[in-house]
Amino acid sequence: MSHLFDIPPIPSIPVKGEAGTYPIRRIFCVGRNYAAHAAEMGIEVDREKPFYFTKSPASAILTGATAPYPPGTGNYHHEMELAVAIGAPAFKVAVADAMSRVYAYGCALDMTRRDLQLSERAHQRPWDLGKDVENSAVFAPLTKAAEFGAIASQRIHLAVNGEVRQDATLTELIWSVPEIISHLSGFYHLQPGDLIMTGTPAGVGAVLPGDVITGGIDGLDPISLTIGAAA
Ligand code: MN
Repeated sequence: MSHLFDIPPIPSIPVKGEAGTYPIRRIFCVGRNYAAHAAEMGIEVDREKPFYFTKSPASAILTGATAPYPPGTGNYHHEMELAVAIGAPAFKVAVADAMSRVYAYGCALDMTRRDLQLSERAHQRPWDLGKDVENSAVFAPLTKAAEFGAIASQRIHLAVNGEVRQDATLTELIWSVPEIISHLSGFYHLQPGDLIMTGTPAGVGAVLPGDVITGGIDGLDPISLTIGAAA
C-alpha cells in the first residue's frame, strides 16, 4: 500500500569505513549530565536518576550545514555533545551488558532555544519548543565503537568563530554511557537507529546569524554548523 503523501526520506548519518549510512529512528537526549553545566543552568546535580527529552528525527541535519536562525527565540544556544548510536536491541539491559549494544559514537550539537526552554521549565511545562527545534540535532559522521575504544579522558570542545566556549573531558560525564543505556532501556525497547545525546559540558552560550560553530571530541570526526539568516 502506498502512502497518501510524499514525505522526506528518513535522515541518516555517514559511518566512517562504511558505504551505507546509519538511519535515524529516535533521538534521546540526556539532561544535565555534566555538573559544571548544571551549575551554570542554576541547578544542583544529584545522582538520583538521569532524565531525558527527545528530538524528532526530522530535526536532524549533518555537519557542514548552514541552518537558518530559528523562529521564536532571541537566545539560540549551542550544546556540544557525545552521541551514542545503538546497534543492537536493548531492553532492561544490565549496566555490565550495555556497551555491547553500542554501534558507534559521533560528535553532535543539541541546538536549543534557551529562552523558551527556561520559561517552559519555570512553568513546569514540557521542553519541546525549546529543544525539538528544526535543524537543531546536528551530527558528524559516526566512528564505530571498536575504533574509538574506551570512553575515558577524551577532550570535548566547541568554539564559535574560533573562540573556545566549551572545553571539558568525557570523564566529567555524571551518568556514564552504560548507565544511561541500562536506565533508558528500562523504559524503551532500544533498537538500531536510536541515538542518545549524552549531555553538554559547561560553557553553553548564544549564537547569531553568521556565526560558525566548530566542535570536536578526541578520536571522532569534528562537527561544524553555520548559523544562517533568520527563518
Ligand atoms: Mn543537551
